[in-house]
Amino acid sequence: MLFDSHIHTEFSADSEMKAAEALSAATRQGIGLVFTEHLDADYTSKEGKVFSFDPQAYWQKYSSLQGDTLRLGVEIGMRESTREFSEEFSRQVPFDFIICSQHMVDDLDIYYPDYYEGKDKQEAYHRYFVQMAENIRAHSFANALGHIDYICRYAPYADADIRYAEFADEIDAVLQNAIENDVVMEINTRRLGDRQALASLIPIYQRYRELGGRFVTLGSDAHTPEAVGAHLLLAYDFAEGLKLTPVTFNQQRMVNSLK
Ligand SMILES: [Zn+2]
Ligand SMILES: [Zn+2]
Repeated sequence: MLFDSHIHTEFSADSEMKAAEALSAATRQGIGLVFTEHLDADYTSKEGKVFSFDPQAYWQKYSSLQGDTLRLGVEIGMRESTREFSEEFSRQVPFDFIICSQHMVDDLDIYYPDYYEGKDKQEAYHRYFVQMAENIRAHSFANALGHIDYICRYAPYADADIRYAEFADEIDAVLQNAIENDVVMEINTRRLGDRQALASLIPIYQRYRELGGRFVTLGSDAHTPEAVGAHLLLAYDFAEGLKLTPVTFNQQRMVNSLK
Protein backbone atom coordinates (compact mmCIF):
# COMPACT_ATOMS: atom_id res chain seq x y z
CA MET A 1 0.00 0.00 0.00
CA LEU A 2 1.22 3.45 -0.87
CA PHE A 3 1.48 5.78 2.12
CA ASP A 4 0.96 9.51 2.37
CA SER A 5 3.37 10.06 5.25
CA HIS A 6 2.70 13.72 6.03
CA ILE A 7 -0.78 14.65 7.27
CA HIS A 8 -2.01 17.29 9.73
CA THR A 9 -5.28 16.93 11.63
CA GLU A 10 -6.87 19.04 14.35
CA PHE A 11 -3.96 18.39 16.73
CA SER A 12 -1.98 20.77 14.49
CA ALA A 13 -2.49 24.48 15.18
CA ASP A 14 -3.17 25.22 11.51
CA SER A 15 -5.54 22.33 10.69
CA GLU A 16 -9.13 21.56 11.61
CA MET A 17 -9.30 18.24 9.81
CA LYS A 18 -10.89 15.39 11.73
CA ALA A 19 -9.15 12.03 11.72
CA ALA A 20 -12.29 10.45 10.24
CA GLU A 21 -12.25 12.90 7.30
CA ALA A 22 -8.60 12.14 6.53
CA LEU A 23 -9.20 8.42 6.84
CA SER A 24 -12.21 8.37 4.54
CA ALA A 25 -10.28 10.36 1.91
CA ALA A 26 -7.48 7.78 2.21
CA THR A 27 -9.86 4.81 1.97
CA ARG A 28 -11.36 6.23 -1.24
CA GLN A 29 -7.87 6.36 -2.73
CA GLY A 30 -6.67 3.06 -1.31
CA ILE A 31 -3.72 4.63 0.47
CA GLY A 32 -2.36 4.56 4.01
CA LEU A 33 -1.63 7.62 6.12
CA VAL A 34 0.80 8.83 8.72
CA PHE A 35 -0.47 11.68 10.86
CA THR A 36 2.38 14.10 11.56
CA GLU A 37 1.12 16.84 13.88
CA HIS A 38 3.07 20.06 14.33
CA LEU A 39 5.52 20.68 17.14
CA ASP A 40 7.36 23.97 16.74
CA ALA A 41 8.40 24.27 20.36
CA ASP A 42 8.44 27.64 22.09
CA TYR A 43 6.69 29.31 19.16
CA THR A 44 3.45 31.27 18.82
CA SER A 45 2.47 32.56 15.39
CA LYS A 46 1.48 36.17 14.70
CA GLU A 47 -2.11 34.96 14.73
CA GLY A 48 -1.58 33.62 18.24
CA LYS A 49 -1.50 29.95 17.28
CA VAL A 50 0.62 27.67 19.44
CA PHE A 51 2.26 25.01 17.34
CA SER A 52 2.30 22.28 19.93
CA PHE A 53 0.02 19.55 21.24
CA ASP A 54 -0.34 17.17 24.13
CA PRO A 55 1.18 13.85 23.02
CA GLN A 56 -0.79 11.91 25.66
CA ALA A 57 -4.09 13.38 24.45
CA TYR A 58 -3.07 12.60 20.85
CA TRP A 59 -2.38 9.01 21.79
CA GLN A 60 -5.53 8.68 23.78
CA LYS A 61 -7.67 9.97 20.94
CA TYR A 62 -6.04 8.20 17.99
CA SER A 63 -4.27 5.05 19.16
CA SER A 64 -7.41 2.96 18.64
CA LEU A 65 -7.28 3.98 14.94
CA GLN A 66 -3.62 3.04 14.60
CA GLY A 67 -2.93 -0.01 12.47
CA ASP A 68 -1.97 -1.18 8.99
CA THR A 69 -3.40 1.90 7.27
CA LEU A 70 -2.74 4.58 9.88
CA ARG A 71 0.41 5.43 11.76
CA LEU A 72 0.92 8.20 14.26
CA GLY A 73 3.83 10.57 13.95
CA VAL A 74 4.97 14.12 14.53
CA GLU A 75 6.52 16.92 12.46
CA ILE A 76 9.10 18.77 14.51
CA GLY A 77 10.32 22.22 13.51
CA MET A 78 14.08 22.37 13.97
CA ARG A 79 15.81 25.09 15.96
CA GLU A 80 19.02 24.86 17.93
CA SER A 81 17.32 26.36 20.99
CA THR A 82 14.50 23.80 21.08
CA ARG A 83 16.36 20.65 20.05
CA GLU A 84 16.59 19.15 23.52
CA PHE A 85 12.95 19.84 24.33
CA SER A 86 11.85 18.41 20.97
CA GLU A 87 13.86 15.25 21.49
CA GLU A 88 12.27 14.70 24.90
CA PHE A 89 8.84 15.41 23.42
CA SER A 90 9.47 12.81 20.73
CA ARG A 91 9.95 10.18 23.45
CA GLN A 92 6.76 10.88 25.37
CA VAL A 93 4.73 8.45 23.28
CA PRO A 94 5.92 5.77 20.84
CA PHE A 95 5.61 7.85 17.67
CA ASP A 96 5.80 5.78 14.48
CA PHE A 97 7.51 8.50 12.52
CA ILE A 98 9.39 11.73 13.17
CA ILE A 99 9.73 14.30 10.39
CA CYS A 100 12.08 17.16 11.16
CA SER A 101 11.57 20.34 9.17
CA GLN A 102 13.14 23.77 8.80
CA HIS A 103 10.25 26.19 9.31
CA MET A 104 12.28 28.96 10.93
CA VAL A 105 15.54 30.66 10.07
CA ASP A 106 17.27 33.03 12.52
CA ASP A 107 14.26 32.42 14.77
CA LEU A 108 11.92 33.94 12.16
CA ASP A 109 9.04 31.95 10.71
CA ILE A 110 9.79 31.97 6.98
CA TYR A 111 6.08 31.80 6.24
CA TYR A 112 5.99 35.56 6.91
CA PRO A 113 7.58 38.34 4.77
CA ASP A 114 9.84 39.67 7.57
CA TYR A 115 12.50 37.03 6.97
CA TYR A 116 12.97 38.09 3.35
CA GLU A 117 13.08 41.84 4.02
CA GLY A 118 16.44 43.29 2.99
CA LYS A 119 17.65 39.93 1.69
CA ASP A 120 18.13 38.81 -1.88
CA LYS A 121 17.35 35.22 -2.82
CA GLN A 122 21.01 34.22 -2.51
CA GLU A 123 21.22 35.31 1.12
CA ALA A 124 17.76 34.12 2.17
CA TYR A 125 18.27 30.63 0.71
CA HIS A 126 21.90 30.37 1.82
CA ARG A 127 20.93 30.94 5.46
CA TYR A 128 18.00 28.54 5.12
CA PHE A 129 20.18 25.69 3.85
CA VAL A 130 23.10 26.33 6.25
CA GLN A 131 20.78 26.16 9.26
CA MET A 132 18.98 23.14 7.82
CA ALA A 133 22.31 21.31 7.45
CA GLU A 134 23.35 22.14 11.03
CA ASN A 135 19.97 21.22 12.42
CA ILE A 136 19.58 17.92 10.63
CA ARG A 137 22.98 16.94 11.98
CA ALA A 138 21.93 17.87 15.52
CA HIS A 139 18.40 16.41 15.30
CA SER A 140 19.72 12.90 14.91
CA PHE A 141 16.45 11.43 16.24
CA ALA A 142 14.67 12.40 12.98
CA ASN A 143 13.47 9.70 10.60
CA ALA A 144 12.92 12.05 7.66
CA LEU A 145 13.79 15.58 6.61
CA GLY A 146 10.60 17.36 5.54
CA HIS A 147 10.07 19.46 2.43
CA ILE A 148 13.54 20.70 1.43
CA ASP A 149 11.69 23.15 -0.88
CA TYR A 150 9.53 24.63 1.90
CA ILE A 151 11.00 28.11 1.44
CA CYS A 152 9.82 28.18 -2.20
CA ARG A 153 6.20 28.22 -1.05
CA TYR A 154 6.58 31.65 0.55
CA ALA A 155 9.71 33.39 -0.81
CA PRO A 156 8.74 36.60 -2.65
CA TYR A 157 11.30 36.31 -5.48
CA ALA A 158 10.35 36.16 -9.18
CA ASP A 159 11.97 32.74 -9.45
CA ALA A 160 11.47 31.10 -6.07
CA ASP A 161 12.50 27.61 -7.23
CA ILE A 162 15.70 26.16 -5.83
CA ARG A 163 18.42 26.05 -8.48
CA TYR A 164 20.70 23.24 -7.33
CA ALA A 165 23.74 24.71 -9.10
CA GLU A 166 23.38 27.99 -7.20
CA PHE A 167 23.36 26.30 -3.80
CA ALA A 168 25.26 23.10 -4.54
CA ASP A 169 27.60 23.28 -1.52
CA GLU A 170 24.82 24.12 0.92
CA ILE A 171 22.47 21.45 -0.44
CA ASP A 172 25.23 18.84 -0.47
CA ALA A 173 25.84 19.53 3.23
CA VAL A 174 22.13 19.02 3.97
CA LEU A 175 22.01 15.77 2.00
CA GLN A 176 25.27 14.44 3.43
CA ASN A 177 24.26 15.16 7.01
CA ALA A 178 20.89 13.52 6.46
CA ILE A 179 22.50 10.41 4.95
CA GLU A 180 25.07 10.17 7.76
CA ASN A 181 22.29 10.27 10.36
CA ASP A 182 20.15 7.72 8.49
CA VAL A 183 17.57 10.40 7.87
CA VAL A 184 15.48 9.84 4.75
CA MET A 185 14.57 12.72 2.46
CA GLU A 186 10.88 13.46 2.04
CA ILE A 187 9.38 14.21 -1.35
CA ASN A 188 6.74 16.72 -0.38
CA THR A 189 4.01 16.71 -3.00
CA ARG A 190 2.70 20.22 -2.32
CA ARG A 191 4.50 21.80 -5.28
CA LEU A 192 4.65 18.83 -7.66
CA GLY A 193 1.68 20.05 -9.69
CA ASP A 194 3.87 22.91 -10.90
CA ARG A 195 6.02 21.59 -13.76
CA GLN A 196 8.83 24.04 -13.17
CA ALA A 197 8.93 23.30 -9.46
CA LEU A 198 9.01 19.59 -10.24
CA ALA A 199 11.85 20.06 -12.73
CA SER A 200 13.88 22.07 -10.22
CA LEU A 201 13.65 19.27 -7.66
CA ILE A 202 15.12 16.61 -9.95
CA PRO A 203 18.80 17.63 -9.58
CA ILE A 204 18.43 17.77 -5.78
CA TYR A 205 17.09 14.23 -5.46
CA GLN A 206 19.50 13.02 -8.15
CA ARG A 207 22.32 14.35 -6.01
CA TYR A 208 20.83 12.65 -2.94
CA ARG A 209 21.04 9.33 -4.86
CA GLU A 210 24.61 10.09 -5.96
CA LEU A 211 25.70 10.77 -2.39
CA GLY A 212 24.25 7.46 -1.22
CA GLY A 213 20.60 8.21 -0.47
CA ARG A 214 18.31 5.32 -1.38
CA PHE A 215 14.97 5.96 0.31
CA VAL A 216 12.33 8.66 0.34
CA THR A 217 9.05 9.22 2.12
CA LEU A 218 6.17 10.74 0.16
CA GLY A 219 3.95 13.29 1.86
CA SER A 220 1.20 15.66 0.79
CA ASP A 221 1.39 17.85 3.91
CA ALA A 222 -2.41 17.90 3.79
CA HIS A 223 -4.25 20.14 6.24
CA THR A 224 -7.66 19.50 4.62
CA PRO A 225 -9.44 16.35 3.34
CA GLU A 226 -9.18 17.54 -0.31
CA ALA A 227 -5.38 17.61 -0.07
CA VAL A 228 -4.95 14.07 1.30
CA GLY A 229 -2.99 11.98 -1.20
CA ALA A 230 -2.53 14.89 -3.63
CA HIS A 231 0.07 14.13 -6.33
CA LEU A 232 1.09 10.97 -4.49
CA LEU A 233 1.37 8.91 -7.69
CA LEU A 234 3.36 11.68 -9.32
CA ALA A 235 5.75 11.60 -6.36
CA TYR A 236 5.96 7.83 -6.64
CA ASP A 237 6.91 8.07 -10.33
CA PHE A 238 9.37 10.85 -9.53
CA ALA A 239 11.09 8.61 -6.96
CA GLU A 240 11.10 5.55 -9.23
CA GLY A 241 12.56 7.60 -12.08
CA LEU A 242 15.50 8.51 -9.85
CA LYS A 243 15.88 4.95 -8.49
CA LEU A 244 14.79 6.01 -5.02
CA THR A 245 12.58 3.63 -3.03
CA PRO A 246 9.43 5.09 -1.41
CA VAL A 247 9.19 4.04 2.22
CA THR A 248 7.17 4.84 5.28
CA PHE A 249 7.83 4.25 8.97
CA ASN A 250 6.24 1.99 11.56
CA GLN A 251 7.49 2.26 15.16
CA GLN A 252 10.30 4.37 13.70
CA ARG A 253 11.46 1.48 11.53
CA MET A 254 11.58 1.94 7.79
CA VAL A 255 9.11 -0.17 5.81
CA ASN A 256 8.54 -0.33 2.08
CA SER A 257 5.61 1.96 1.35
CA LEU A 258 4.04 -0.61 -0.97
CA LYS A 259 4.11 -3.69 1.27
ZN1 LIG B 1 6.32 21.55 7.54
ZN1 LIG C 1 3.59 19.61 7.58
